[in-house]
Amino acid sequence: MSNSTITPWVVGNWKMNPMHANAVQLVQEFKQLLQQQDIDPTKCHIGVAPISIALTQIQTQLKDAARPIYTVAQDVSRVAGIGAYTGEVSAELLKDSAIEFVLVGHSERRELFGDDVAILKAKLQNALNAGLTVIYCVGESLEQREQGLAEQVVLQQICDIAPVVQAEQWKNVVIAYEPIWAIGTGKTASPADAQAMHAKIREGLKQITSSGANIAILYGGSVKAENAVELAACPDIDGALVGGASLNAQSFYQIAKAFAQSK
Ligand code: PEP
Repeated sequence: MSNSTITPWVVGNWKMNPMHANAVQLVQEFKQLLQQQDIDPTKCHIGVAPISIALTQIQTQLKDAARPIYTVAQDVSRVAGIGAYTGEVSAELLKDSAIEFVLVGHSERRELFGDDVAILKAKLQNALNAGLTVIYCVGESLEQREQGLAEQVVLQQICDIAPVVQAEQWKNVVIAYEPIWAIGTGKTASPADAQAMHAKIREGLKQITSSGANIAILYGGSVKAENAVELAACPDIDGALVGGASLNAQSFYQIAKAFAQSK
């Protein structure tokens, strides 16, 4: 048990998965597991991030779960408000649909969809200004790690957003450290390496904001039921952003349980 006052978060990032029928089944299975009521709602926030067209539907399906499960958007527009922006979904529109959480800066968005610092700052600022809670993802590539640049890269990614986060908005920011080489590869950072990076992130956050000690720092990168207990035992790992394993109700449930019971 750690002395941290941070309630852990376990968030499933479904990415561009699954098909509708499988999503319905996944939610049903997960809700059934939650009926065991052995994940104390005060000990762990749980969220799932479905594809955008399924957000409100999944949210409705989760309403009668045995404990609150947040519905999280995977992305948000860099444009605020409403208007002639074909294909975009703004923070205000998410809020209007009672979606209160959003991922920003996932490495797949940075690498595949051109989300650069300017775009990420706009997305983050819009989301926070609309009153959403942002899970901001950071992480280094394998090449950067091998060059000894991991810490520098990750801290820079946090410094990048600092200018657009107002002092009172840090309480609505969660950081997810996701080393890119560990995402979807089956390779997890060792708990010691992950803890070391999380401690550095914590130090960095404390220098940026007086709320730094209270910001949850999640780990992401091939988290599964088999390694969750060990990761959850690390003092600065306040939860997990889970990709592949969140598509299996039992695995996701075990991961949430590991974090709820370790803190
Ligand atoms: C992710 O993409 O956020 C992620 C952590 O994926 P996976 O768990 O599959 O590595």
